[in-house]
Amino acid sequence: MKRKVKYIFVTGGVSSSLGKGIISASLAKLLQGRGFSVTIQKLDPYINIDPGTLNPYEHGECYVTDDGAETDLDLGHYERFSNTPTSQANNVTTGRIYQYVINKERKGEYLGTTVQVVPHITDEIKRSVKILSQTNNFDFVITEIGGTVGDIESFPFIETVRQMKWELGKDCAVVHLTLVPFLSAAGELKTKPTQHSVKTMLEQGVQPDIIVCRTEHHLNEGIKRKIAQFCNVNPTSVIESIDAETIYDVPLLMREEKLDIEVLKVTGTKIPNKIDLSKWEKFVYSLKNPKGEVNIGLVGKYVELKDAYKSINEALVHGGTENQYKVNVISIQSEHLNIDNVDEQLKALDGILVAPGFGGRGIEGKIEAVKYARENKIPFLGICLGMQCAAIEFSRNILGLKGANTTEIDSETKFPVIDLMEDQKSVTNLGGSMRLGLYDCSIDVNSKTYKEYNKKDIKERHRHRYEFNNEFRDKFTNNGMILAGINKEKNLVEIIELEDHPWFIGVQFHPEYKSTVKAPHPLFTGFIKAAIDKKV
Ligand code: GLN
Repeated sequence: MKRKVKYIFVTGGVSSSLGKGIISASLAKLLQGRGFSVTIQKLDPYINIDPGTLNPYEHGECYVTDDGAETDLDLGHYERFSNTPTSQANNVTTGRIYQYVINKERKGEYLGTTVQVVPHITDEIKRSVKILSQTNNFDFVITEIGGTVGDIESFPFIETVRQMKWELGKDCAVVHLTLVPFLSAAGELKTKPTQHSVKTMLEQGVQPDIIVCRTEHHLNEGIKRKIAQFCNVNPTSVIESIDAETIYDVPLLMREEKLDIEVLKVTGTKIPNKIDLSKWEKFVYSLKNPKGEVNIGLVGKYVELKDAYKSINEALVHGGTENQYKVNVISIQSEHLNIDNVDEQLKALDGILVAPGFGGRGIEGKIEAVKYARENKIPFLGICLGMQCAAIEFSRNILGLKGANTTEIDSETKFPVIDLMEDQKSVTNLGGSMRLGLYDCSIDVNSKTYKEYNKKDIKERHRHRYEFNNEFRDKFTNNGMILAGINKEKNLVEIIELEDHPWFIGVQFHPEYKSTVKAPHPLFTGFIKAAIDKKV
């Protein structure tokens, strides 16, 4: 029997970067813990069709789903917390909504009517939200709305929330996240910004049901009551979200604050009395009680930007926690890394991870880091461009192929060990046109990679245009590089691994996208284990 789905919108006010994604993911975790099935979606008010063409400096990393959608990094949090795969339907932008409506208009499907923001754009937004519950039997669809209320771009989304609340009554609720700042000069927490942001919502016809207040200090009952009174909600519906040590604390803090119970109450859902978060608690215990520490160097060109390598950072946390070790991530700007300073910069590391990327900036530094890891037998994980750098380094320094390169950087190289994939040669449109999403890979059972996965056939997520050039296969394998993973369908090298090295693995895919709290990725667990072994 089809269950009645409840729609929860998560909006933000006062300031950006308050952590709507983490609150949404935490709510999903709590509802799952009570036995409900949940999916989380992000609506992004910007006009790009997706973040695939965006520079990481704009919105951080681009997260890739199983079906090859290039999405907002919040979907990474959703998957890591809920352990449920997301898809293109879980991330919709204004651009995608307009593209759909305009295409429909060009086909004459609006039968001569004037196409308008209300109802045509809002109807399409509504369709994008409801479609999630139609494909699967979810109890809850949590929809996070990007940006801050009052932004010009958010208007159609907030209007859609208004309409859905009107249509669905209790089956639709709004959680509004705001900031309660502490003014040190006055020694007080201030509720006025929250009041104003709820007023902005009310001007657009939406009364939030629950207000989550991000704060640096505990909210006392008086403050909670004041917010409740001015913002028209129950005092129990004012939830404190205090700054947490790690994002993984937030579901437990939200459980204490009874965010899930409030959501169940306002939606008129029967409250199951048991909540099981035992696996999550075990994870947080290991995270907070490490037996030791390892230093992992993350070599990339966006390292000064916290969100650029989000999934890699989190996968390292998962891998560390699985070994009950703390991972200190040491950021190394590859642009500044060279033969003269490589020893100084990398000598204190227990493991080296060379990051994915596009374009030439910092690539020679990455190659220098690979060489250092190979020669000094430091555990190495190369991801996508990082794997390509490992192939280039091996060609130049072991195979003696001077000037070997990827044709992405040097189209004239005599030794194109990494080259554009055949089916990419005719691509002119940059959006959504890479080799994206899940592809099969068969692992060589005699490899170290096999020991980590403990299975032969895997599927991993991809995002790239260039590939290992098969013309060089023999040279590599005759000189100590194992081609440990192959995509048989297209005969593509997906994993390379050094024979004479404790742990040196390069992967063309992105294992970080699939690592979750419940299922840490075996390559990250193995990489950290190798780093621990090197250290002790
Ligand atoms: N720029 C490389 C390619 O397109 C690597 C991409 C990546 O690291 N994600 O193949």
